Amino acid sequence: MYLYNTATHHKDEFKPQNPAQVTMYCCGPTVYNYAHIGNLRTYIFEDLLARTLRLQYSLKHVMNITDVGHLVSDSDEGEDKMEVGAAREGKSAWDIAKFYEEKFWQDYDALHCSRPTVISRATQHIQEMINLVKTLEEKGYTYRTSDGIYYDTSKFARYDALVGHAHISGLQGGARVELSDEKRNPTDFALWKFSPKDKKRQMEWDSPWGVGFPGWHIECSAMAMKYLGHTLDIHCGGVDHVTIHHTNEIAQSEAATGQKYVNYWVHGEFLILRSGKMSKSGGTFVTLEVLKEKGYEPLAYRYFCLGAHYRTQLEFSYESMDSAAKSLKNLRALACQAKEQAGAKIEETEKSRTWKEKFMAAMQDDLNAPKALAITWEAVRAGDLSAAEKTDFLQFADTILALDLFKVTQEKPLPIPAQVQALLDQRKAARAAKDWAASDALRAQINQAGYEVKDTPQGQVACKK
Ligand code: AMP
Ligand code: ZN
Repeated sequence: MYLYNTATHHKDEFKPQNPAQVTMYCCGPTVYNYAHIGNLRTYIFEDLLARTLRLQYSLKHVMNITDVGHLVSDSDEGEDKMEVGAAREGKSAWDIAKFYEEKFWQDYDALHCSRPTVISRATQHIQEMINLVKTLEEKGYTYRTSDGIYYDTSKFARYDALVGHAHISGLQGGARVELSDEKRNPTDFALWKFSPKDKKRQMEWDSPWGVGFPGWHIECSAMAMKYLGHTLDIHCGGVDHVTIHHTNEIAQSEAATGQKYVNYWVHGEFLILRSGKMSKSGGTFVTLEVLKEKGYEPLAYRYFCLGAHYRTQLEFSYESMDSAAKSLKNLRALACQAKEQAGAKIEETEKSRTWKEKFMAAMQDDLNAPKALAITWEAVRAGDLSAAEKTDFLQFADTILALDLFKVTQEKPLPIPAQVQALLDQRKAARAAKDWAASDALRAQINQAGYEVKDTPQGQVACKK
């Protein structure tokens, strides 16, 4: 298997530390609002990775729930998003976290993303975070300001490991003007923030440094290493996390353990709107609920996401959703037809195995889901595969695609229009009379009418192009 590694800038062959168990950590949601469909695209890509890995390995997949400590700005300014959510809705921060976490899992399950092996909530791991900050303090990486304990990024030589030297020195130079008097370097970040003196926070804990709450980045390092050890095979997230969150995770973890934190950094590109970025703070906020209200089933959104490689930006539009929904229906109709024709006798043959291998090769080549989907379409239309072989292949493909391919739809495969059927009948007769020239001419006419015809041992099969 090959994966594009953000840290090396190329597709690397995936070699787990221990093939008996692959370890993977995915940054989870900040549960102060609904997830938008951009966030969900990232979880779909991570699920594709998890499903592909599971075909070959046993996988320990950890995902956190950020229910405290993610400030409105990634650079430690502004309020904690949970407290902002609580004020917005007049509920407690704890209730906000519980409510939006439940909503998150509903979306996650509806999209057939497979549940992680371990789900870890930040609020249940405060002690682990404090311990990690203590280690960093003992090793001389921290300093105190009036609002918290900070990480001194100038002490960690590999701080530019993920984003490169030019980017970090740009940050160091560019932000100098805004640098608060107390922060030593613009890239320094909070490990522990103190509660404001004049206000009681809803979520706060005692610590060796005073009452407060953890920084967002320390959360992922502490939980990832608790469950997966000092070095993880894979760490995933959206591309927005590369420059700050994951860069800071590396700095904290490697400074504390002296060991490499992650072997493969895998990042998913953004879902965008024609008008720009989808964001929770801006007005452009589409949720799965909104799609459902408009009549799309969640798996049509999954199909839409599978149509683009995870490392390319994907532009959302309702026209594309329409076409994804239609394609999914048609694929299911063909899958159901194959299964019905196959009857009880579905077993792997050399031919169906070859198609499965083609499909797997696409997924193992840096998760090329669009190619795997195209192979699925080819297989379902392949003239040389029997209905039983198609069914066998599709059952396998659906363990990765997870599109409920055999869901019985009301839709029958689209009926062939009468004039195309007439051409097909004439072609059948021409072939029976071995009039190959007429057969070819009729094929051209059928193509012109938007249909494809294939000759199979069971006779000619036509479908819409
Ligand atoms: P958050 O809940 O904001 O912490 O984000 C959850 C996940 O969604 C993270 O892995 C982000 O990198 C990712 N993400 C945020 N916005 C988008 C977007 N527009 N498209 C794809 N992924 C996104
Ligand atoms: Zn994280």
